[in-house]
Amino acid sequence: MSLNPSDAGVVVIGGGIAGLAVCEAVRERDALVPVTLICAEPRLPYDRVRLSEILVSGASAETLQLRPAEWFEDQHVTVVTDAWVAQVDARARTIALADGGPTITYTSLVLATGSNALLPPIPGIDQPHVHAFRGPEDCDRIREAAVSARRAAVIGGGLLGLEAARGIASQGCAVTVVHLMDRLMERQLDAGSAGLLQDTLAMDVELNRQTAEIAPDHLRFADGDELEADLVVVSIGIAPETTLARAAGATVNRGVVVDDALRTSLPDVYAVGECAEHRGRVHGLVAPILEQARVAAAALTGDGAAAYAGTIPSTKLKVAGVDLFTVGDAEGDGQAVAMDAADGVYRKLATRDGAACGAILLGDLRGAEALSTLVRRGERVADALAALAASLEAGPAEMADEVQVCNCNGVCKGDIMAAVTERGATTPREVMAMTRAGTGCGSCKALVVDIVALAAGGEVADEPHYLCPCKQQTREDLAALIRADGLESVSDVSRACGTGRECGACKPALAYLVSEINANRHREERDARFINDRVHGNIQKDGTFSVVPRMHGGVTTPAELRRIADVAEKYDIPLVKVTGGQRLDLLGVRKQDLPKVWEELGMPSGHAYAKAVRTVKTCVGSDFCRFGLADSMGLGVEIEREWEGLHTPAKVKSGVSGCARNCAEATIKDIGLVAVGDDQWQVRVGGAAGGSVREADVLCTVDSRAEALRVSTTFLQYYRENADFKERTYDFVPRVGLDAIRAAVTDPATGAALRERFRLAKAAATDPWLERREPYHPHQFTNPDDEDGAARPALVGPPTGGAR
Ligand SMILES: Cc1cc2nc3c(=O)[nH]c(=O)nc-3n(C[C@H](O)[C@H](O)[C@H](O)COP(=O)(O)OP(=O)(O)OC[C@H]3O[C@@H](n4cnc5c(N)ncnc54)[C@H](O)[C@@H]3O)c2cc1C
Ligand code: SF4
Repeated sequence: MSLNPSDAGVVVIGGGIAGLAVCEAVRERDALVPVTLICAEPRLPYDRVRLSEILVSGASAETLQLRPAEWFEDQHVTVVTDAWVAQVDARARTIALADGGPTITYTSLVLATGSNALLPPIPGIDQPHVHAFRGPEDCDRIREAAVSARRAAVIGGGLLGLEAARGIASQGCAVTVVHLMDRLMERQLDAGSAGLLQDTLAMDVELNRQTAEIAPDHLRFADGDELEADLVVVSIGIAPETTLARAAGATVNRGVVVDDALRTSLPDVYAVGECAEHRGRVHGLVAPILEQARVAAAALTGDGAAAYAGTIPSTKLKVAGVDLFTVGDAEGDGQAVAMDAADGVYRKLATRDGAACGAILLGDLRGAEALSTLVRRGERVADALAALAASLEAGPAEMADEVQVCNCNGVCKGDIMAAVTERGATTPREVMAMTRAGTGCGSCKALVVDIVALAAGGEVADEPHYLCPCKQQTREDLAALIRADGLESVSDVSRACGTGRECGACKPALAYLVSEINANRHREERDARFINDRVHGNIQKDGTFSVVPRMHGGVTTPAELRRIADVAEKYDIPLVKVTGGQRLDLLGVRKQDLPKVWEELGMPSGHAYAKAVRTVKTCVGSDFCRFGLADSMGLGVEIEREWEGLHTPAKVKSGVSGCARNCAEATIKDIGLVAVGDDQWQVRVGGAAGGSVREADVLCTVDSRAEALRVSTTFLQYYRENADFKERTYDFVPRVGLDAIRAAVTDPATGAALRERFRLAKAAATDPWLERREPYHPHQFTNPDDEDGAARPALVGPPTGGAR
């Protein structure tokens, strides 16, 4: 968006959680005042709290985006990304950007410049194998390094250090947490809970270790000991970003000093979030930031009474498999502890001068809200042990209205109740959309649902099954809209849906819906697809790709095998593997080699990477097998040719067995055919043998090979049209019910209509590997490492030119 230099109004510097929260809070209070958000990062504000998801999965930062671009447009918030503010002139009420550009005038200015990772002056800290853990780029670098590192060390055993260590371990790299103190998370935990946490985490931990030097392949501690590490992540705290404020003449201690209205010492300049210091304290958590944003917005829109009184910190550890909640100061001068070390449970309520001052719950989070309320209110506790026991029984009905249910967004039980009783919400999703409860780390969702049920008198209305929470529309509503308005692309749908209707999570679902309803005659927008679909290969953990050429029915020829071998040698492909679906996988192909590899293979895309029809596994059948009752190989080849190239809601794996011995394992496939004699075929659907194991249901038994092909194709189209995105057949079949599916698939008229729509979709299907000749985008297959430090291009470009 462009900036109008004459714009006055509220200018917010810093597109983090704090900056966005200020924009939201200002807009809630004033629909008209111009608001401008200036972000140094090249992206819209995202949820930094969920950063470790990127470290674990490698997903793009866009998946964490807090608000879609449309939201900013709808709310008339001007956003400028990739812009660094170089100077604030508090007297002239202007700010200047680093790269020139217009000087921007403000009426009120909010500094939300956050912080940077604290990097201590340890010798060797500036080496390339040493990383901070603060932004998406750090995650990318750490992930990449973890693939080849022998051993990693994370310096810092606090919340983030543990998250980072778990993220590195998830990449298969051994990791040691190195901590200066005598226990993990010493600011939140006492010795007992820290010890139990360490056992629960089952990670290598070095306590009481002061790192004196970081060498290329090891750490050296102050006591002279060494620890092998060729990847180092430093996570020991934050350093508030105060450069701008300091240069502008604001009072700065550790952070920019603010009063209870979040005002700095400069006129009409406020500071919020990790850059701010309030009553001597810099908060590094989201809950206080949101409270601060509300108060700042109130103050700068004229509410003289608005005041921030500080926040009692509470934390939840976001490490899979470990339940940990802490609030306040868990040391105190009195305490009640219940511990079951064998079960990894530790529950503590601490008191000071007879008042609740802190709690720790590890391994059993029941009563977290009740204890948190005691601590926040500083309630007098006569018998701490009894209070701790009573918290186990505290259900939603017993909770006071001001109990904070969603810590991330500061939403209380009373807000949730009021959303139902006063604002007309009827379902948990509506309540979440209205209040934002449950939309942060998500750990309070179950409680939100219980409170909604309580508010609704025990009955929760049937929840509409939204395609995505950001889009208060079901798949069916959206499908009807696409059909009625002839919408041809994800952008068309987003525009037609009005406000804020697009997010990273639902774009791929919409991309599928648009392509399915338009029978593949849609406008393809690659930014809406997952990375594998944009590059037509499976991205592997080291950033290379795997290529699985299609061998219909698992049948190949010497010529094809020769070409595969030649390509593997020529392009130094490190591994050739036979897959579980009887195909050959070329693993470790560099992105820039993909077009040449596809060209020289001269085989179609196996779609082994996409939510699409994949392989049809076959046994040798009657051609060669002594037991074979029918030509399973021939039918498998025929089916794969018939179905290849089509996208489906989730991956579809199939199999054809020539007799009940079932050598092709057809009974655990999404669609499986088993010959049962006299040219009879059993058609099975909804099987799985991956993360879930499910025997496929028998849809019907048919009397000819042609009928077997026809029924299974009809089912495939029924599934394409009715399943939710990412819903495998093993969830779809039980959800919809075998009888309903059978009725639709075997009904002559419905079946014929399904097959006609299938025919149209198939007619428009193209082999994605043909993009080797005509890339969708000039940078589609470039290697970012070859670009001489130039800005990394988007993998694919805008929708222009994407029309089929
Ligand atoms: C991995 C990780 C996990 C976390 N987990 C949790 C958790 O579970 N619970 C919790 O409550 N908190 C958690 N936190 C902390 C929480 O994310 C932060 O408290 C919060 O994001 C800080 O928000 P902020 O907007 O104040 O600062 P930031 O997120 O640092 O945003 C400030 C922005 O301002 C920009 N900026 C700075 N200077 C300028 C300038 N001169 N011009 C333009 N832009 C500028 C920066 O580039 C940055 O984008 C976590 C943090 C991390 C890193
Ligand atoms: S499933 Fe039957 S026909 Fe096929 S290979 Fe096994 S035994 Fe032979």
